[in-house]
Amino acid sequence: MATPEIAIIGAGPCGLTLARLLECKGITGYILYERDEGPDAKRAGGSLDIHPETGQNALRHAGLFDKFKEHARYADTAFALGDKDGNKVFEMGEGRDAPEIDRVELRKILLDSVPKDKIKWGHALKEVSLGQDRKPVLHFGNGMTLSGMRLVVGADGAWSKVRPVITPAMPQFSGKTYLEGRIRRDNPFYDTMAKEFGSGMYLTVSDERISITQRQGDGSYRIYFGLQTPEGFFRTLDLQNLEAARNMLLSSEYYGDWAELYKDLIRHSTHFWAWSLYTLSKEDLNWESVSGATLCGDAAHVTIPNGEGVNTAMADALDLANSIEKHGIEHLDDAVKEYEARMFPRAIESILQGEIMADAMFVKDPQVFLQKFGPAMGLSN
Ligand SMILES: Cc1cc2nc3c(=O)[nH]c(=O)nc-3n(C[C@H](O)[C@H](O)[C@H](O)COP(=O)(O)OP(=O)(O)OC[C@H]3O[C@@H](n4cnc5c(N)ncnc54)[C@H](O)[C@@H]3O)c2cc1C
Repeated sequence: MATPEIAIIGAGPCGLTLARLLECKGITGYILYERDEGPDAKRAGGSLDIHPETGQNALRHAGLFDKFKEHARYADTAFALGDKDGNKVFEMGEGRDAPEIDRVELRKILLDSVPKDKIKWGHALKEVSLGQDRKPVLHFGNGMTLSGMRLVVGADGAWSKVRPVITPAMPQFSGKTYLEGRIRRDNPFYDTMAKEFGSGMYLTVSDERISITQRQGDGSYRIYFGLQTPEGFFRTLDLQNLEAARNMLLSSEYYGDWAELYKDLIRHSTHFWAWSLYTLSKEDLNWESVSGATLCGDAAHVTIPNGEGVNTAMADALDLANSIEKHGIEHLDDAVKEYEARMFPRAIESILQGEIMADAMFVKDPQVFLQKFGPAMGLSN
């Protein structure tokens, strides 16, 4: 396989946005390497709200904003806050300029915008070593080794295999785990769900645990039961065993004394999936630029989910593409330095917001959430 000038690792929102932007700028000497075997291999993810100055801005520069708007759901920007007794304590209307789109739709828009031969599926990066010239050498799980690139971009998410050649930083467990469940349209609880939880996002905060319900593009719901757990807690549970997972959530330690509505929600939830939440720390965003390699998106700054992750990742892609265009393919080290100087403060702010959000959500009373996080979210009663 010919060596590309720029190797992008990871076809998530960040890597794909970068590929599309390079394509738009006529910088075509890149190849994207993705570990998934094909476009449909990934487990479908949840709904994402795309913000004007970051995600939307990147889509505009990528010439994809009109396509995005075909799928964007402004009605699902509604937000409500409740307590465990079933009281709604705060709500905000629809129509905010942060429309929702399913992750799978966003990925499809981006995938369709990049020539098919620029994406190499089934290429899981195993490790990166440094050659005699101190430039990165890529070792893939399928046995392929690649060297001689001018730049390697790690857009390979939280557990980036590119990161170790740039910084020793490793994500740390936040002490929080989301157990995701699903209520599909054919679920007998669906009508109650739609009536009680409505469009958009409904966050319930009580007793230092949370429930987040979120309506998806097909009208179904994703639910995140947010708990404080030891690291690896859910590895000890067989989540395929619905009854065991539901009984655990219904126990007195978790949601046992929440209103019947929430207990019914648990009794009907299916397709459980555990998300252990990891974060880099603000202090990690201070590395010296490395010749021939950089990071963007979660690989650079994974944080506790704060509603900004995809947006920040796409803003990184835009900044990096702009710097590459400005400095040219002969001066990629200068481009990386400039990009990282712009990325660091945004990443530090995102990690901080993740910490503030987690600190505000895992509280005893939703009013405390409003006091702590309301101003940061632009919420007012
Ligand atoms: C439960 C949960 C809910 C979230 N909700 C939101 C939300 O509502 N809004 C929001 O903005 N953000 C949300 N986020 C965060 C968001 O998902 C991420 O910030 C975003 O996906 C980062 O994009 P990325 O492209 O950098 O990384 P990823 O989306 O992680 O993409 C990385 C890509 O690299 C590939 N890859 C990984 N390792 C390798 C390898 N070794 N070799 C080759 N390819 C590899 C992966 O398969 C993937 O395609 C949430 C996160 C979680 C965990």
